[in-house]
Amino acid sequence: MSRRATLLRHANARTPRYTSYPTAPHFHEGVDGAVMERWLGALDPARPVSLYVHVPYCRSLCWYCGCNTRATTRAEPVAAYLERLLKELELTAARLPGRMAISHFAMGGGTPAILSPDQISRLMDAVRARFDLLPGAELSIEIDPRHFTRADAVGLARNGFTRASTGVQSFDPAVQAAINRIQPWELAAIAFDRLREAGVGAINIDLLYGLPRQSAASARASAEAAADLAPDRLAVFGYAHVPHMMAHQRLIRDEELPDARSRLDQADAMEDALLAAGYQAIGIDHYALPGDSMARALKARTLKRNFQGYTTDPSDVLIGLGASAISALPHGYVQAHSDVRAWGQAVEAGRLPARRGVAVSAQDRLRRAIIEQLMTYLDVDPAALAAAHGLAEPEADLSELEAAGIVRRDGARIIVPRAYRPLARLAAAAFDGYLPASAARHSVSV
Ligand code: SF4
Repeated sequence: MSRRATLLRHANARTPRYTSYPTAPHFHEGVDGAVMERWLGALDPARPVSLYVHVPYCRSLCWYCGCNTRATTRAEPVAAYLERLLKELELTAARLPGRMAISHFAMGGGTPAILSPDQISRLMDAVRARFDLLPGAELSIEIDPRHFTRADAVGLARNGFTRASTGVQSFDPAVQAAINRIQPWELAAIAFDRLREAGVGAINIDLLYGLPRQSAASARASAEAAADLAPDRLAVFGYAHVPHMMAHQRLIRDEELPDARSRLDQADAMEDALLAAGYQAIGIDHYALPGDSMARALKARTLKRNFQGYTTDPSDVLIGLGASAISALPHGYVQAHSDVRAWGQAVEAGRLPARRGVAVSAQDRLRRAIIEQLMTYLDVDPAALAAAHGLAEPEADLSELEAAGIVRRDGARIIVPRAYRPLARLAAAAFDGYLPASAARHSVSV
């Protein structure tokens, strides 16, 4: 069977993206604020942590959006949210075993850059009052080029931000109209100029394929136009159309969505354009310039996978703040209330706003390590990892994937050839001890 036929055959396989293991459908309400408090208290104060802050507000809603966010043109909700974020920061820091160092700080959303420069300064002053930001720590934030001034860029630089990322998705005006995100190339170019002039030198761009009215030619042109902006990294995702879960996606017309063949052509066209522009493929869906820290971490095998996708952050502790934010702690995962009101009420009452989560067992840790290596490096030696964890190698039936060429073996190593990297999720799923119960709730592979 040709590569194309194999990819198409498995394109609709619903597998997790494995930004955690166990995956989010296995989170439950038994993990609450009291559990999180115990887990935070048991952290090793000598080891740096990663901090993530979620801001669920945008100026307008893009119809494809799958994030926990809402549109507002008013300043009050954002200002009220910041006050509660500062309170949550205090509540969380007070439960840590001591003053801790931060190796990586990220703000996502939503559009966290919706906070004014003064508001960002307040937040960062509070972070610095409670934590030690390590020299060389990466500070990143998502921005919206449609609402990004020179003062915003200067404010980010003043607060130590080193990286900005933005969802471009497509530069095709017809596609932009169909997803309610009118953002000409020139607008993105101006935003990036402002960032670079201010000193925020590292830039990420997200692109999507599978959008309404998108074709392979349109996808290729968008990837080429994005590469012309010289970002250090790009991520290319397939649009996940789940209108039953995201009501605003109903505004996207089903008949304008490309079929599986076209989606595959678009993904291939974008990859061709980015490789031709000098980017290196990373993991299942990322690209980086060879000198970027992500490309270097891939080579050194220090790259990791977490809720933000791939990360160069060496810490294995991620503390999330804000509505819906997920913390990844050595004992397990905890997610805050997604509902901003419920999250705010918990914080106002002086409680950690934990809504659900899951404890991680020794067996989970081993399977997570195997899955993470497959998703990041497209190869893994499960026996070596099992020995390192002091456990037996988990059983995994890869025979069908091997027969299809999606997986091959080299001694004890399991390898996903790069041509099949969109299907690495299938190989990872073979090591997922929970999958049968949750298979229907994940997005398609291509
Ligand atoms: S700006 Fe980003 S987070 Fe906000 S609605 Fe658009 S895609 Fe979603």
